[in-house]
Amino acid sequence: MSKDKIPVVGVYGGTFDPIHYAHLRVAEELLDTVGFRQFHFLPSSEPRLRDIPGASKFHRKMMVQLAIQDNERFSLDSREMNRSGVTRTVETLREYRQQFGNNTALCFVMGADAFVKLHQWYCWQELFQLCHLIIVGRPGNKHVMSPGTLVQELKNECEMRWVTNANELACQSSGLIFAANTTLLEISATKIRTLISCNKSVRYLLPEIVYDYIKTNHLYDGEDN
Ligand code: ATP
Ligand code: MG
Repeated sequence: MSKDKIPVVGVYGGTFDPIHYAHLRVAEELLDTVGFRQFHFLPSSEPRLRDIPGASKFHRKMMVQLAIQDNERFSLDSREMNRSGVTRTVETLREYRQQFGNNTALCFVMGADAFVKLHQWYCWQELFQLCHLIIVGRPGNKHVMSPGTLVQELKNECEMRWVTNANELACQSSGLIFAANTTLLEISATKIRTLISCNKSVRYLLPEIVYDYIKTNHLYDGEDN
């Protein structure tokens, strides 16, 4: 007999400086693979483990909003933007858990480049009490899609949590890791910012409406905004 299924909620955290087509395509594919009840894009305010973003949190939020406005399956969660200071994902996930209770599976989505550094996150082991992880591949980090290649500390925590069937995510509320086989797209926000600062086109790397917003607001071009 199959186990009872619970609703599944997806959360895709990131700096989104700016949001681009790889973020959007990965999310769209996950919606079909995992069957989320809700899927939230969660822009972070001031990330702890990276440089200060090129665009303000207001602009990053606006770009996410514009990028997803035509997709009724996506929504923007700006709760981290409304918080001042350093962003701690675990605090946000505690809030989600309180909001949804124990009978919902929460899935936090991250690229393989972020996942290999998970052990540097604040209270990272607590994440598994709060959510599942869905890992998506990135060109250059494809080897991370199995636990064998992780640093020992991360491997010890993750090995037993690894599942190969997305349906398992709906059988418990947290604690599992699923590596999704999404399309590998070699797009990064760093590359987009660099191209803009060199006065080169970024067309077709991100939605036209986001590119228009970047141009209108002189983001990443070295002018004050
Ligand atoms: P930056 O170059 O500024 O770090 P980015 O393109 O990596 O930007 P982020 O906002 O840092 O974008 O990423 C948010 C999340 O999306 C992270 O978990 C990251 O790993 C993932 N991600 C970003 N780009 C891709 C991509 N091309 N394929 C799969 N996942 C991606
Ligand atoms: Mg990144």
